[in-house]
Amino acid sequence: MTTFFCPSCWTVLRPDEDPCPSCGCGVEERLRTQSYTRGLIRALSHPEPQTPLRAAHILGMRRDGSAVLPLRRKAGETEDLYLALACLEALARIGGPEALEAVREFCDDERFLLAQRARELAAEVAEAGRSLGTRPGGPS
Ligand SMILES: [Zn+2]
Repeated sequence: MTTFFCPSCWTVLRPDEDPCPSCGCGVEERLRTQSYTRGLIRALSHPEPQTPLRAAHILGMRRDGSAVLPLRRKAGETEDLYLALACLEALARIGGPEALEAVREFCDDERFLLAQRARELAAEVAEAGRSLGTRPGGPS
């Protein structure tokens, strides 16, 4: 089942909820005028602190490669450790060489917890990439 998110505040919606009961955004109309990924990337800078966390999480679930750069940038510039961690988790989930490079960039971050998690995630992503690359006759 598809999960629906409000394209403005990114709370979870039932499919028939429009406007969003949380922020009042006209869901259909917003979706017509704004690309979903673009909206999520913009939400990484939303002033309400829970919203960027949700956006990072959803970007990771969507595994959209165009989110790699904005997630990397956000993890580097935010002063919110939880948001930086959420960006790294999303990058790891998106996977691939570009995301791996982005995660590796934080392995020596001065924020200890972030650097520690970056090293774990980098190892996971590298491992996933390796097993994909060596599986004989696996799906490409
Ligand atoms: Zn909303």
